[in-house]
Amino acid sequence: MIRARKRFGQHFLHDPQVLQRIVAAIAPQPGDALLEIGPGTGALTALLLEHAPTLDAIEIDRDLAHLLQQRWPQRLRLHVSDALDFDYTQLAAARGGKLRVIGNLPYNVSTPLLFRLLAHVNALHDLHVMLQKEVIDRMAAAPGSADYGRLTVMLAPHLHIERLFDVGPGAFHPPPRVWSAVARLTVLPQPRFAIPPLYGELVAAAFAQRRKTLRNSLRALLTPEDFHAAGIDPGARPETLEPAQFAALAMLARPVAL
Ligand code: SAM
Repeated sequence: MIRARKRFGQHFLHDPQVLQRIVAAIAPQPGDALLEIGPGTGALTALLLEHAPTLDAIEIDRDLAHLLQQRWPQRLRLHVSDALDFDYTQLAAARGGKLRVIGNLPYNVSTPLLFRLLAHVNALHDLHVMLQKEVIDRMAAAPGSADYGRLTVMLAPHLHIERLFDVGPGAFHPPPRVWSAVARLTVLPQPRFAIPPLYGELVAAAFAQRRKTLRNSLRALLTPEDFHAAGIDPGARPETLEPAQFAALAMLARPVAL
């Protein structure tokens, strides 16, 4: 039995029904450029390789990577590296097509990993991810709800998000303390609206202290006249704004002088 390493967020999926449901949701097609993030002991990898002649995978744990490479010396193209630094755009270019990303992702790095993938969104076709249930709730939240926040607003312009099913702790070894959920994130052919350069900065500032009004949290980026020009109440709180309204504000924002 392989010992799970806590620092790499290792919880290995062993429930055959859950594994099958994930692969059925992905429905791999011939010619797909599949990329698995964090294959671990290879439970999902084995099923994916039933549908695809080869598969790319990124695994940070050298010991697991060694075992995986021994098991599939020809068919698994293993990148022993950190998915947070990985160049997804370069891999898509090498494979001659957009990537279909799959991962039972390490929960301790889920938000930075989603932001990293977002930075390479033009290289991606879709993502099937298993994450802590609360993170999936935040990704798919509606404005005005407690879960709506920076993650929701950053993903919204680029992705169509479908929550597929929940998975209990018993499906993993060792069982995590939290419930998980699987979601499909499909990259839109065009972003829903134009994304101004200061969009990310403004959204981060707006949600840094979500109890503050926009007037206060965005003081360094926007004047009262800017709010008026965008038709947005400066006394509003960030969770009440639609993603496109953040874009309207970001269009008027000026960079903060250092
Ligand atoms: N996919 C496997 C499964 O379903 O059983 C393993 C899932 S486990 C939650 C997360 C996996 O991601 C582990 O294999 C871990 O070593 C790997 N991992 C953790 N951090 C990583 C990182 N920054 N880059 C690449 N892989 C990472």
